[in-house]
Amino acid sequence: MARYIGPVCKLCRREGEKLFLKGERCLTEKCAFTRRGYPPGQHGQGRIKLSEYALRLREKQKVRRVYGMLERQFRIYFHRATRMKGGTGEKMLQLLERRLDSVCYRIGFGATRAESRQLVKHNHVLVNGKRVNIPSYVVRIGDKIELREKSRKLKLVELSVGLAERRPIPGWLEIDRGAFAAVVKSNPIREELNEPAIREQYVVEYYSR
Ligand code: SF4
Repeated sequence: MARYIGPVCKLCRREGEKLFLKGERCLTEKCAFTRRGYPPGQHGQGRIKLSEYALRLREKQKVRRVYGMLERQFRIYFHRATRMKGGTGEKMLQLLERRLDSVCYRIGFGATRAESRQLVKHNHVLVNGKRVNIPSYVVRIGDKIELREKSRKLKLVELSVGLAERRPIPGWLEIDRGAFAAVVKSNPIREELNEPAIREQYVVEYYSR
């Protein structure tokens, strides 16, 4: 599946907030949003009043970029969520969060979702003891996700685990950092999916035009 490979700091600047797409750099003074917290481009520093439509578009783009997806794939998640029982926005976020690359990020295998996605693609991750190299694989309650023993000494993983310890532990995952593993206890809890803050209702309204 195709993915965005352009400059990611521009995405934060466009959305007007930190999306934490670069791991450790996001927490330092080098963060492009800290240094230039206005949209990229020649007119970035002009005054802009967003229309109602633009507000919804920006929220949709933000969620899409946080989870590292292109429009077509993202839209599929939205449509899957509309067919589920319950609030569409929340269901969509739960589906996105249960993607294997996102779960690996939450556990701390990668410093970002993009890094975690690479680990999955390169066969470093096991689900219930079997190799799964599909980043969009959606985990289920009871699944055990772990890093292959050989992969635990990777420099990238060592750095990521250190960074993950500075993030809150998601209540829906039972994480054993020592064993490089986690078990899915429940569906992701909406209140915990707030890094950055998401107004999923805007995304629903955007696609319901
Ligand atoms: Fe770049 Fe991270 Fe800062 Fe975003 S939060 S601008 S990705 S360094």
